[in-house]
Amino acid sequence: MIRRGSDYIKSLKEGNHGEVYYNGEKVEDLTEHPAFKIPIKTVADYYDLHWKDPALRVYNPDVGEETSISYFRPRNKHDLRKLREGLVRIYDFYHGYFGRSPDYLNVWTMVFFAHAEDYFGKVFGNKIMENVINIYKEATKKDLFYTHAIVAPMYDRSKPPSQWEDPYIQVGIVKETPEGVVVRGAAMLSTAGPYAEMLWYLPNIRRDTDPRYAIFFSIPTNTKGVKFLARRGFHPKDGFSEFEYPLSSRFEESDAILVLDDVLVPWDRIIFFKKPEEIEGFMWHTVQLRTWFNWHFVIQHYARMKFYAGLAIAAAEAVGINNFINVQEKLGEILIYLALNEAALIAAEEAGEELPNIYRPNPYISIAASAFNMRALPRVHELLRLLYGGSSIPVPAGIKDFENPEEAKYVEKYLSSKGLSALDRVKLFNILWDVIGSESGLRYEQYDRFSRGDPTIRWANMYTEVYKEKKYEYIKLVKEIMDQMPNPKR
Ligand SMILES: Cc1cc2nc3c(=O)[nH]c(=O)nc-3n(C[C@H](O)[C@H](O)[C@H](O)COP(=O)(O)OP(=O)(O)OC[C@H]3O[C@@H](n4cnc5c(N)ncnc54)[C@H](O)[C@@H]3O)c2cc1C
Repeated sequence: MIRRGSDYIKSLKEGNHGEVYYNGEKVEDLTEHPAFKIPIKTVADYYDLHWKDPALRVYNPDVGEETSISYFRPRNKHDLRKLREGLVRIYDFYHGYFGRSPDYLNVWTMVFFAHAEDYFGKVFGNKIMENVINIYKEATKKDLFYTHAIVAPMYDRSKPPSQWEDPYIQVGIVKETPEGVVVRGAAMLSTAGPYAEMLWYLPNIRRDTDPRYAIFFSIPTNTKGVKFLARRGFHPKDGFSEFEYPLSSRFEESDAILVLDDVLVPWDRIIFFKKPEEIEGFMWHTVQLRTWFNWHFVIQHYARMKFYAGLAIAAAEAVGINNFINVQEKLGEILIYLALNEAALIAAEEAGEELPNIYRPNPYISIAASAFNMRALPRVHELLRLLYGGSSIPVPAGIKDFENPEEAKYVEKYLSSKGLSALDRVKLFNILWDVIGSESGLRYEQYDRFSRGDPTIRWANMYTEVYKEKKYEYIKLVKEIMDQMPNPKR
């Protein structure tokens, strides 16, 4: 099934969301709340986009009906291209923002389904294999909106969570009952948590191999005991709108701490249980979730780089700095990042891996490109700051400055530029400020650095994990010459 935006909003109004707290209050109607109505509308637009763009709807042989492209299991290179092209269309719609759009976790659910037998069945048995299959079928048939949570709150990173004074700060198993498993704890950030209908909880159990944490599951967010403590909204301030905050008013995503207060997770919603050592197969080997989510991120980044390139060039040309060599160098740097992201996506597809159950993007290229962007995306923010200096500061304050005739004559004269009318120049630079200076823009910068983990650790992982085996091929190249070099006569 493919829903429409109105179906999603109706579902939220019927209570298909978690208990959400905002600034001391329990939110009753999320759809009307200033902190949530923007992302809710954007998610509704995502569903409607499927009905405007036929490339986003596909016949899905795994469920025997038409579904969103994001649930489509690629079986060969051609299929992966089809999936990539569909996802690029979605992120072009978001200009590369709104990373926790429903498609993001739809792909995870599809990947789990693809490995139902060779990983989940093999490692955890038939019951869990069936759970994986049923969860995928349910998600596709109902076109549900999933969010996820992984990382434990930052209580004391010097020790694993099982050694904290309260070992249930990280979500852990409290007890097993005939109906399911009771879990308690919290996860640091769950973007989209407040307005998602479903939750994937999949902790980073490499940080702590205590089996009490080794539980991955999917539950409806309106399950008893599921709570989201939301951050402040970064929507336009009172009195301002889309004119002053063109991006915050479209792509503001809410983040929240997830609290699981003795939540009963039914047995049929669990997909990973009490075998922490099996995380290697899940993340790095058989399922390779790490490859898939990094690949998906690169799609988002590619769309964003296109937007950044357009913004940087339009603004440079508008104010006549585009002929300076130092400016051209900076524009060139952004275009290099753009081209490298496009290349990474094509290469990951070309050099993908054909498995019996799925065609997977190339892990080296996908993980490296996503890690590279942890530094490239914030670097583009820095370049945008350097390019436009004080002119990036958003003056005048708002649209009303154009409406007061006494003031408007100055605005029209002094805020125009050689290339643009005052109105267009102010619109353009309002976009710029929303990218590099607004709360929402700065939150995205932090997201770009940290949403896949800490950049230092991810870059180090290239050596310690990604190229762990393959590095010997390269060492051999040096050894070959070493072996041919003469040895001293002794
Ligand atoms: C905007 C935003 C949205 C997010 N949305 C989600 C979401 O939807 N779902 C989700 O699950 N997560 C989400 N995250 C969280 C994200 O997964 C984490 O921020 C990320 O994994 C990094 O973890 P951390 O913040 O705990 O930092 P840490 O990994 O704890 O790192 C913090 C600092 O401590 C240092 N450090 C920590 N441990 C070590 C160590 N062992 N050795 C050396 N240095 C160390 C790091 O270098 C870094 O400087 C989001 C994050 C952001 C910023």
